[in-house]
Amino acid sequence: MKTIGLAHGNGGEENGRLIEELFYRHFQNEILQQAEDAAVIEEGKLAFTTDSFTVTPLFFRGGDIGKLSICGTCNDLAMMGAKPKYLTCAVIIEEGFELSELEKIVLSMKSELEKNGAVIVSGDTKVVPKGSVDRIFINTTGIGEIRYRGISSNRISQSDLIIVSDTIGRHGASIFLEREGMEFSTALESDCRSLWPVVEKLIEAKIEIKAMRDATRGGVAAVLNEWARQSDICIEVQEEKVPISREVKGVCELLGFEPFTLANEGTFLIAVEPKDAPKTLEVLRSMEASSMAEIIGEVTAGYPQKVLLKTPYGTSRFLELPSGELLPRIC
Ligand code: MG
Repeated sequence: MKTIGLAHGNGGEENGRLIEELFYRHFQNEILQQAEDAAVIEEGKLAFTTDSFTVTPLFFRGGDIGKLSICGTCNDLAMMGAKPKYLTCAVIIEEGFELSELEKIVLSMKSELEKNGAVIVSGDTKVVPKGSVDRIFINTTGIGEIRYRGISSNRISQSDLIIVSDTIGRHGASIFLEREGMEFSTALESDCRSLWPVVEKLIEAKIEIKAMRDATRGGVAAVLNEWARQSDICIEVQEEKVPISREVKGVCELLGFEPFTLANEGTFLIAVEPKDAPKTLEVLRSMEASSMAEIIGEVTAGYPQKVLLKTPYGTSRFLELPSGELLPRIC
């Protein structure tokens, strides 16, 4: 590999390899190597993370680049049990961009920040000549106060249950259709939303959270594979238990997509011990953002570092880490 390809940003295999072999290798330190959704710093008191947003189209059903730029960073903090508090916002804008569109984006960021109880405390604005960037790119970086300690993708163990918070694949499916200018059911829209309110309820309910991760780029397949590798476990998933909306199923059948690799922006996975599963489901289902929550699988002694997908017909196959170009610029 001499140059960077689109697959290096896919949230899957090639992306992971680039991060390991280049960034982790040179930046090597204990915190980075934990490879969590957000870094845990200051003796476990704070979570710290960053994310850049390049989505196209800028405005889509269920959100826009502004809403996404707050959800993305705040959700990575929330997934570490942290309440989002302070964010920075850096924008790179192409010359000629409409001021009214920029204001729409900023207002949408403002409204999403309010849902998290977070504020933008610093920022940067760069304008580049026409053609140097496609309209607008946004970076947000965030600090959260950890309210629940010990969440880690490296400590999932045998017999833990895996729960998904909602139906999967809606962000990836709707962005793709919109970008291609395809007509589609109004019932399909991105799941883009802030997860802190849901996480806060889980913490208040005193649930012992082993791991949580939002299934963004690379979808549910990426998270399950990352967990299997990081915790050196086998995860067995019952395919028919995974909630998938009729609309997403339709899109996948029509275009040959795999719902497990489609991106989500407000749907997450949580691993808990069996004793905590009923309460977890009860709490999740009581909130609109996670009303479709289901137990989809469990950790077994099967194939270490592998994810096994079991069909209702008794057959099974490995669910691999996604690879290839997938859908670029979905976030
Ligand atoms: Mg994440």
